[in-house]
Amino acid sequence: MLQEVGLGQKSLADYTHIAGRGLIERIRELAEPLQGKTVLHVSATAFGGGVSEILYTLVPLMRDVGIDAHWQVILGQEEFFNVTKLMHNSLQGDEQEISDGQWEVFEAYNAMNAQDLEGEWDAIVVHDPQPAGLKQNAPQRARHWIWRCHIDLSAPNPSTLARMRPLLTEYDATVWHLEQYVPAGLDGGIRKICPPAIDPLSPKNMALSPEDAAFVCEQFGIDTDRPLICQVSRFDPWKDPIGVIEAYRIVTERVPDAQLALVGSMATDDPEGWEFFHQTFRAADGDPDIKILNNLNNVGAIEVNAFQSQADVMIQKSIREGFGLTVTEALWKGRPTIGGDVGGIPLQITDGVSGYLVSTPEETADRTTEILEDPELAKRLGRAGKEHSREHFLTPRLLRDWLDLLTELDR
Ligand code: UDP
Repeated sequence: MLQEVGLGQKSLADYTHIAGRGLIERIRELAEPLQGKTVLHVSATAFGGGVSEILYTLVPLMRDVGIDAHWQVILGQEEFFNVTKLMHNSLQGDEQEISDGQWEVFEAYNAMNAQDLEGEWDAIVVHDPQPAGLKQNAPQRARHWIWRCHIDLSAPNPSTLARMRPLLTEYDATVWHLEQYVPAGLDGGIRKICPPAIDPLSPKNMALSPEDAAFVCEQFGIDTDRPLICQVSRFDPWKDPIGVIEAYRIVTERVPDAQLALVGSMATDDPEGWEFFHQTFRAADGDPDIKILNNLNNVGAIEVNAFQSQADVMIQKSIREGFGLTVTEALWKGRPTIGGDVGGIPLQITDGVSGYLVSTPEETADRTTEILEDPELAKRLGRAGKEHSREHFLTPRLLRDWLDLLTELDR
């Protein structure tokens, strides 16, 4: 058997006051004819990354509404994950080719995991490319097969996609974050657009009192009586932390007491990440009002929550972005948020209404200054952003979309 992921219990009723009674009732209605259906989610790992973050909430909520939902992870070793990392990059446009030998590794691990797949399921949901070969190797295991794509396939390396396509077209349905992420030739079958969502009751997103948020930020040397600008993201060139530092410097010409916090997690085994971290550090040039923090400073979910709740302006100045969960998290905390005009960010921010969209450090600085100098504007943007995230990007909406799809497959 594939390895089952142990899950806690969650109750949909706890979300009623946040997501609204109408949506919760709709979910119960949809769940009624689906009682007892068996649904298996399969992913590559149970730790780190957006997929596991989503499944830790989605699967318990599916169970709570009467679906016999499970989550299992495939078995892989370094040689397999090296190949799937290449595939991941290449499906998002990297030019490096995957060799025949590497494809064989991919296929061998998929065949082996398919053998370990047990049971007869009403639906199996395969997440991302790593386990995409399961259906081909064990089609009899489920009545419906769904491939859930969490990455942007709009401009893939053509040869990688060509090789993946026959595996993917076997699925009865595919699910995507955004319409523009669906590549040509994968638009057959049932196709559902279903952006990700955050769990408003998780430690990262639950309500923190202003006092608690301030207390946590003070532990990291933030002066909570002065304005705080913050970006939470990996130290990666596409997230442009150096552009954020440039923007911050312009802001301080008008708002001299502003502070900047760059909060980013680091993988200990990612040398490129460290190189870029050091570049960012050098760009800060010893400025004591720029705090650069990472998970090695004990920045976990609660700390991310505190920074996002405390900041006067949240920034996500990405140059390229899949969806941008950090934007959802910032909006949900009612903070005025400025995001790069790329990927999933415009879906979350309507420029001038629920935040601002920007493309350059100068624009970022202008918008930040505007917000810092106008508390009424800050409040208005923050509230609009929060309501937008409430309506579209919380887990109950995601659960409803899954129930919709399961219903559609049964028709
Ligand atoms: N994150 C975190 N600690 C950090 C930096 C990021 O927990 O120091 C989380 C962040 O809160 C979000 C996720 O990592 O939940 C990043 O998702 P996003 O879609 O924004 O970007 P990705 O890293 O997947 O490109």
